[in-house]
Amino acid sequence: MPDAADADFYALESLLEPGGRELLLRVREFMEKSVQPVINRYWTREEFPHELLPEMAGLGIAGLSYQGYGCPGGGSLLDGMVAMEVARVDASMATFLGVHAGLAMGSIYLCGSEEQKQRWLPPMARMEKIGAFGLTEPDVGSGAARGLTTTARRDGDEWVLDGQKKWIGNATFADYVIIWARDLGDGQVKGFVVEKGTPGFTPTKMRDKIALRVVQNAHISLDGVRVPESSRLQGADSFRDTAAVLRLTRAGVAWQAVGCARGAYEQALAYAGQRSQFGRPIAGFQLVQDLLVRMLANITASACLCARLAQLQQDGAAEDHHSALAKAFCTVRMRETVGYARELLGGNGILLENQVGRFVADAEAIYSYEGTREINTLIVGRAITGASAFV
Ligand code: FAD
Repeated sequence: MPDAADADFYALESLLEPGGRELLLRVREFMEKSVQPVINRYWTREEFPHELLPEMAGLGIAGLSYQGYGCPGGGSLLDGMVAMEVARVDASMATFLGVHAGLAMGSIYLCGSEEQKQRWLPPMARMEKIGAFGLTEPDVGSGAARGLTTTARRDGDEWVLDGQKKWIGNATFADYVIIWARDLGDGQVKGFVVEKGTPGFTPTKMRDKIALRVVQNAHISLDGVRVPESSRLQGADSFRDTAAVLRLTRAGVAWQAVGCARGAYEQALAYAGQRSQFGRPIAGFQLVQDLLVRMLANITASACLCARLAQLQQDGAAEDHHSALAKAFCTVRMRETVGYARELLGGNGILLENQVGRFVADAEAIYSYEGTREINTLIVGRAITGASAFV
């Protein structure tokens, strides 16, 4: 791998405490030594590297932005930079972590009762139990706030869940899947923790994706799934609470986008120094340098934006539109950057072995999940104009 410090152009890592920087280096070492050499094979076969989980768990990176409940803590900036560092080598592993530690643990951390947080978060922080987050449905994606069709019916001390979910990351093997469903009683969206193996809960692996092929996305059928009232997230009373989780995780996706772009850029920079045409390294051609500097500018601007957002998060001042702007901006810049990197490698850019093609493909999913560019743009547009333009 090229020297990672090169792409931290404005030295954002220096904003971390010494302990944070050490953790970042441990994550970098894990990703470069244990993940990088094998990940293309998993990507090709659409498989998840379960055997790497114990080493990843040992890093203590699940729950960096949460306080207590066995979580490592460390703050929003460190959490974001770790997401970036993981994505810098592999966007699928970053997505796995984002779903587990962000969406699933975040739902429990933000919406669970004290007892629920004590019950579920410590084993998830240790990554002994893995989480998933089921919001999207086959016919309801961007319009989830109003359109969820999965239902929850109260029956004594239990709830009965019925419906379909689509795209649910980690769900083929997750121990806890947060299912968001509409309460038939009051019409509001509520969150339920469904444990692996619950009767009527059937996840089916989605195949033939062209992006994030290592991530195990599932189609889920919920057929009369019974969960106790104690498994309903006690602090989730409406979609407003679901949105609070997304506010947190969209910032993480913006960091993932920086990592994905940075990984492609670093590979392209190294390639430019090694590849010769017309008798000299292509790094010496003006037009190649133009591509490299455009990439670096995209990465630097995006990373600076994310770092400031992390400060707002840390201060409790981040609002939906702050995360939405970062997610939309950074994913657009990522998509442009990975395209430039591929261009710089010429034909070799489409070969997996040259380490750029996977970023190009994976960027397509990051661009669309957790709110497409359009939806995040509409969130910002509503905030700055006061006019909602969703429908
Ligand atoms: P649609 O909502 O059908 O949108 C199609 C197009 O219409 C988009 O371009 C969109 O921007 C546009 N559009 C929609 N509404 C408007 C509007 N009002 N104005 C302008 N344009 C509009 N979901 C989960 O719940 N859990 C997961 O773990 C998860 N993981 C995922 C992993 C991957 C790899 C992918 C691809 C998706 C994942 N998702 C997950 C789902 C993801 O969040 C949705 O794909 C996303 O929200 C968009 O929904 P959709 O794909 O149904 O697109």
